[in-house]
Amino acid sequence: MDKRNLVIIGGGPAGLTAGIYAARATIDTVLLERGVPGGLVISTHLIENYPGFSVGISGPDLMIQMEKQARRFGCEILSVNVEKIENNDKEFYLKTDRGDIITSAIILASGAQPQMLGVKGEKELIGRGVSYCATCDGAFFRNRRVAVIGGGDAAVEEAIFLTRFAEKVFVIHRRGELRATKIVQQRAFQNQKIEFIWHGVADEILGKNLVEAISVRDVRDNSKTLLKVDGVFIYVGNTPNSSLLKDLVKTDEKGYIITDENMQTSHKGIFAAGDVRRKLLRQVVTAVADGATAAFAAEKYLEEIK
Ligand code: NAP
Repeated sequence: MDKRNLVIIGGGPAGLTAGIYAARATIDTVLLERGVPGGLVISTHLIENYPGFSVGISGPDLMIQMEKQARRFGCEILSVNVEKIENNDKEFYLKTDRGDIITSAIILASGAQPQMLGVKGEKELIGRGVSYCATCDGAFFRNRRVAVIGGGDAAVEEAIFLTRFAEKVFVIHRRGELRATKIVQQRAFQNQKIEFIWHGVADEILGKNLVEAISVRDVRDNSKTLLKVDGVFIYVGNTPNSSLLKDLVKTDEKGYIITDENMQTSHKGIFAAGDVRRKLLRQVVTAVADGATAAFAAEKYLEEIK
């Protein structure tokens, strides 16, 4: 059985930064990632507010650099899906699709995943016009009409991005005011290709094989309009990937893991970092800070139990 001192679960900004710090501190570490390293950031076309890049950097470019940096310090990164975590007083047992791993400490940096809207037609039409990633699928909608659902940073930024391709972008938001940052809002308001549909919710996504329309309900009077679109991009927030540890550590009502300021969870030896953790601001800059702190705290913990 593979035996390690520290296992990091998740290869987004928090996990890779924990990997950089742990590997540089010569802790016997492995980082496990079920998909490709990079996390949700790789679906962001431009990150403008991560310090050090005065004109911004694309999500994929930033994450390629972070991964290279972690590997340069000797952080081993394996493509593995963790299925279950069990423990005794001293160690944790990870059951994975590639065999079992024993470890003394864990950093959970498994991030969050896009929240589904939960309306009729959504599941059936995923990949057929319903998408959660404009960077991945935007180019399919050249000269088409698309709708973006949501009013946060992700919805508004990705709506702006989609205007590169689409002829028209409708942003459907359930209130009369956006949640997104003011500077992002201003850019969207100035963009001629974007039309806002206020107080609107998508009740149903219609289409036989491909998306053809959405039924939009005005929440003020419940009147319904059929909006013809070829694509629907859903950005209504994220849900934490915390199910692996939900029986071992304390979470809040939404499933975000509760930690102290040192990323320590309610269970000794388990640390959490990044979007999976309950916190005020979920951005790359806070994820990398969490990752560094979690690795340092894990190092102290490993010294204590030696
Ligand atoms: P978010 O900030 O939680 O916004 C979700 C949006 O979806 C809100 O406008 C919300 O409406 C709406 N919504 C939620 N459930 C809905 C439903 N069932 N039907 C219709 N609308 C619904 O999520 P996000 O935009 O994905 O961002 C997540 C985090 O990442 C945030 O902290 C954000 O600041 C950060 N982020 C930052 C950047 C950046 O700084 N460059 C880019 C992307 C994301 P209400 O407003 O009415 O609640």
